[in-house]
Amino acid sequence: MGWVRLRGEAHPIPVGKIVCLGQNYAEHAREMGNPNAPEFFFFLKPASAIVHDGEPILIPPGVGRVDHEVELAVVIGSTARNVPVARAMDHVLGYAPLLDVTARELQAQAKKQGRPWTASKGFDTFAPVGTVVPRADVPDPHALAIELRVNDQIRQRGSTSQMVARIPEAIARVSEVMTLERGDILATGTPAGVGPLHPGDLAVARIERVGTLSNPVRAQPKGT
Ligand code: MG
Repeated sequence: MGWVRLRGEAHPIPVGKIVCLGQNYAEHAREMGNPNAPEFFFFLKPASAIVHDGEPILIPPGVGRVDHEVELAVVIGSTARNVPVARAMDHVLGYAPLLDVTARELQAQAKKQGRPWTASKGFDTFAPVGTVVPRADVPDPHALAIELRVNDQIRQRGSTSQMVARIPEAIARVSEVMTLERGDILATGTPAGVGPLHPGDLAVARIERVGTLSNPVRAQPKGT
């Protein structure tokens, strides 16, 4: 069972699901070959993919290219079902850095065949997530510098101000479809600059006011 920890609290919070927004930064949508204004969509990543700060991202054998996507994670604090935009933030517990690790070649193949992305997004260790910072400590989650470095080289750098669907709208729209429960994570999309991870790399995500998340990358030994 995946879990997250709220800063200053001893007990882990179980995570039921990770809801990921797709192409929620226009420049990333363009780099993925979609020149149009992105339309709101989301997909699920299993909570079993969660690992924590310092734990390795494991690249499965034969999976092809695996990419980093740094994202602001919004952690839900109370049950949200069909919430209006104006009340959506009441359901936010806090924020954390998250990597939406993606097996890009599998994803491209799935897109071409019109099949779900689940496998490409769902491998164990493909959802590193940091410590959750309480909502009150982040007065404006839409004005945060967000970056990802690999081996100390900048790969992604942006601002959460570039999100197409903002957090309240995203919570409202997702909650029209599925109930969001305490511990659920909303991954709010990635800025431009996604790129490959290789065994031996160190991926370090940083989000202003929210914190840092460091994960080494390793090859998953065959048969494990
Ligand atoms: Mg993503």
